[in-house]
Amino acid sequence: MKVVVIIPAAGLGTRMSPMPSGADAKSASPKSRKPHPSKQFTDLGGTPILIHTLRKFAAVDAVSEIWIALRENEIEGFRERLGKEAKDVLKKKIELVVGGEHRQQSVEHALNAVSAAADDVVLVHDAVRPLVTAEIIHDVIEAAKKYGAAIAGLPAVDTVKQVERTSEGAIVKATIPRAGVVLAQTPQGFHYSVIKKAFDEAAADGFMGTDEASLAERSGHAVAVVMGSPRNIKITTPGDMELAEFYLRE
Ligand code: C5P
Repeated sequence: MKVVVIIPAAGLGTRMSPMPSGADAKSASPKSRKPHPSKQFTDLGGTPILIHTLRKFAAVDAVSEIWIALRENEIEGFRERLGKEAKDVLKKKIELVVGGEHRQQSVEHALNAVSAAADDVVLVHDAVRPLVTAEIIHDVIEAAKKYGAAIAGLPAVDTVKQVERTSEGAIVKATIPRAGVVLAQTPQGFHYSVIKKAFDEAAADGFMGTDEASLAERSGHAVAVVMGSPRNIKITTPGDMELAEFYLRE
């Protein structure tokens, strides 16, 4: 039984560094119009976020290969960077594939290229969650082996409201008992047969989900939850960078 990791890292991260628009765009200096690096390449303590994330998985003995979905024009540059800055990651088999327009397509491209047996484990993890721990990775692998599908999740501590969006803002429609709510994180792990079937069905139906578990759920597979961590944040906004830098220094 082998463990294959897929890291979707082909996002633009526009919430991280929005390009200037409208009046701002006209007045922006040529320097400020220079595109920012995609968020997975932003430096965190002097190292790109994606390399932090890769090191977490490369350090886990059970992991045998790591597939990274990147934007096409970033593949060669990243291959060189790995060779120069992250030789420790290269002790695992590393494969770089071209990502897609949406996260799900980026994962799908890697999944279609992977060769695995039905009960091998496939883990999917956001490139921009560099603070994942070895313990969470291990727990998801074990639960995926046992149940066929498992995610890291966090119990909701805030009260959760269902809302309707209007032009004026949001209107509360209902309160969802938080005891029944878990916030989904990654890694999400599956037997190869489970995730492949779920992705093939989603592609046939044109279904687009925001995580892999939602595809396994609609494919009729139960998904187990193991404890994630409040520190396993998905770096999305500049404020998240400050938090990640703080956690990294601890
Ligand atoms: O955009 P979002 O925050 O959902 O991104 C989550 C992860 O999915 C990131 O690691 C991002 O690089 C990746 N992604 C991707 N291909 C896309 C969009 C996002 O691999 N087209």
